Amino acid sequence: MIKVAIIGATGIVGQQAIVTLTNHPWFQITKLAASARSARKTYGEALREANGASRWWCPEELPASVAQLPVENAADFDPTTVDLIFSTLDAGVAKELEPKWAQTTPVVSTASAFRYEDDTPILIGGVNMDHAALIKVQQERRGWKGFVVPKSNCTIAGLVVSLKPILDNFGVKQVIMTSLQAMSGAGRTPGLSAMDMTENVVPYIPGEEPKVETEPQKILGTFTGEGITHAPFGITATCTRVPVLDGHLVAVFVQTEKPCTPEAAKEAMVNFGKDFCQLGLPSAPDQLIAVTDDPFRPQPRMDRDRGDGMTVTVGRLRQDPVLENGLKYVCLSHNTKLGAAKGAIQTAEYLVKYYLKWV
Ligand code: NAP
Repeated sequence: MIKVAIIGATGIVGQQAIVTLTNHPWFQITKLAASARSARKTYGEALREANGASRWWCPEELPASVAQLPVENAADFDPTTVDLIFSTLDAGVAKELEPKWAQTTPVVSTASAFRYEDDTPILIGGVNMDHAALIKVQQERRGWKGFVVPKSNCTIAGLVVSLKPILDNFGVKQVIMTSLQAMSGAGRTPGLSAMDMTENVVPYIPGEEPKVETEPQKILGTFTGEGITHAPFGITATCTRVPVLDGHLVAVFVQTEKPCTPEAAKEAMVNFGKDFCQLGLPSAPDQLIAVTDDPFRPQPRMDRDRGDGMTVTVGRLRQDPVLENGLKYVCLSHNTKLGAAKGAIQTAEYLVKYYLKWV
């Protein structure tokens, strides 16, 4: 078994990583770490707040074996004690600690700290696995035995998966999108206030739109051998927070290069990613995109767990009456699964099998 650490284990994404890694066929959780606030407690104790309420977030039970593990201070963590690190820290502290760990040990991260570095790929399962070759450039340039590979921003996880077959078959000229993002996307520290979120929509998420408007072009760009040439289309985004627990919904308007009917887009999406799904990665779903003809779907509660949270659901595919070569649809993805922890673990599975060749 490959020994893994989850650093940021007490957060929402860290908890989701614990659920995904429990009974994982390749990875064994051997270390947990978080801030100094949680250190030197058992994981179960660290999840108890001062008022006694549990911070365990996932609907699955916390495994007793994990509850008893000690939580280490992330700042003092020795990366050589494990084979692989899942970093689910906030970006600020990730920027400082991930490069230290990467000197010896591979790091797969859900933080944004390294996403915009020229020598760092942002891998999304089935979309851009050829970008994994950029890791070698990162290791050589920085003299690292390990590496840092970040996951994408959670809002664009579904967008990028749904755009890839459109880009490949019809070309993309521009994208206009509005997100309706779940509350779990804001994390636990400090988290959102019930007073703000109940019976409400918040029309601004600090720092989100610049990420959403730039990451997809890198992910959908072309690997040149030394770097990535970004895909040459523009995105304009409005990101909002809605009172949904899990599952980011995105309303997408795409102008394609070539004419594209909704039927042709549906066919391209449904057929997309079959090769990737057949690689035998433990966290891969049977299909990357499910397209529904039901005009009332996708809905977060009903569709976010499709493919155990790893399938993107697309609905309301139709021609846009205003944009030339315009297509519009709604897509839904699970923000803490595909968009964060489980997507990071799926990336690690791919790297362990095809880059590190450990299995
Ligand atoms: P979270 O619930 O707020 O958890 C943050 C984690 O980081 C906790 O384990 C916390 O430990 C730890 N931490 C905070 N400050 C620290 C410090 N100074 N030193 C060491 N550890 C520290 O956040 P989250 O939602 O799980 O998100 C984790 C990361 O994933 C973030 O970078 C976020 O942007 C990214 N992300 C989140 C989502 C999502 O849907 N939530 C999706 C994609 C990416 P304590 O409990 O000890 O404070």
